[in-house]
Amino acid sequence: MGNSINIPFNRPYVAGGEADYIAQAMAERKLSGDGRFTKASQALLERLLGSGRAFLTTSCTDGLEAAALLCDIQPGDEVIVPSFTFVSTANAFMLRGAEIKFVDSLASQPNLDHHAVEELITPRTRGIVPVHYAGVACDMDALRDIADRHGLWIVEDAAQGIASTYRGRPLGTLGDLAAFSFHETKNVISGEGGSLHVNRPDLVERAEIIREKGTNRTAFFRGQIDKYGWVDVGSSYLPSELVAAYLLAQLEAIDEIQARRLAIWAQYDDRLRGIAEAKGIQAPHVPNYASNNAHMYYLVLPSLDARDRFLAHLKRHGILATFHYQSLHCSRYFADRHDGRALPQSDRYSDCLVRLPLYAELSADDVDRVCDAAAAFFTEQL
Ligand SMILES: *Cc1c(COP(=O)(O)O)cnc(C)c1O
Repeated sequence: MGNSINIPFNRPYVAGGEADYIAQAMAERKLSGDGRFTKASQALLERLLGSGRAFLTTSCTDGLEAAALLCDIQPGDEVIVPSFTFVSTANAFMLRGAEIKFVDSLASQPNLDHHAVEELITPRTRGIVPVHYAGVACDMDALRDIADRHGLWIVEDAAQGIASTYRGRPLGTLGDLAAFSFHETKNVISGEGGSLHVNRPDLVERAEIIREKGTNRTAFFRGQIDKYGWVDVGSSYLPSELVAAYLLAQLEAIDEIQARRLAIWAQYDDRLRGIAEAKGIQAPHVPNYASNNAHMYYLVLPSLDARDRFLAHLKRHGILATFHYQSLHCSRYFADRHDGRALPQSDRYSDCLVRLPLYAELSADDVDRVCDAAAAFFTEQL
């Protein structure tokens, strides 16, 4: 075998309609934000989620930053965030002066350990930011119960959570606010892109203002006021119509994208779960309250050494698999700020988790090649 095959980790999907929509936006000479492609994308997102208001943003990071503004975070406020996540989950709140209290992951899967949240709450705690890792829902009833008892808001980091549910309810509709990512590594993409989902009607008007640099320009264009101006803080979170045009074609193809990804995920799972678990390797866990949107197929190896040897083995076979997050409480930026609590599960996922190639165009033959290489490693080298 050797280098004859070459399977990348990700390949950004082209559904087919993107070029035509981008050409339409160009022909119409409407390129800045909030035009018809943005509105059509938002309408599709709202239909997909069934409730709440969708606002396209330039990234999930920006969606989270807008959420932090909407939550009115003040310096010294505390926010509870999993340590095993992307930097933006925490950074969006640090930018407003919040102190981050990192919570560990579950042993069964990388989502935050909801049993460990309540003990972190102090009089200064304002909110919880659950991350639906791999598109698998956190235990939202447990978190909602804690949030309601302590008067906290919930912002879902639903970056990976499109087209997935918790007890039948779409991810993104369960928190006060949520943010999705359409980065090219996600299920539905626009290169860079995201959305803020607002589930509280009392926050909708301010969300429009924050997203339009602190102006009431959106109300002006709706004809509700005769001139617009600076009314609040805000930033520029609007994506260009070119980006929204790409996204609209993707959202229209979401059923086909999801069908392809779910088939690939099922093929991995059929071939690998049994042989992995027999060797002490942890396969993805989807609790009965959650659905699977096939964002990711991951395996958790028994040790850092085994994980690194597994990645190197796959690479020798022309397969690019990857590890995932460095625990944020150990990061160079945060280590000095952390309160010293050990977060062993988060560390274990940082050291031992491997993500296998998964993209809509990955062929069944290539999935088999990845599984052959993985199986050979499990039997010969573990
Ligand atoms: C991808 C991702 C982000 C960041 O999304 P961007 O759109 O690139 O800003 C944030 N959180 C999680 C959990 C992610 O997976």
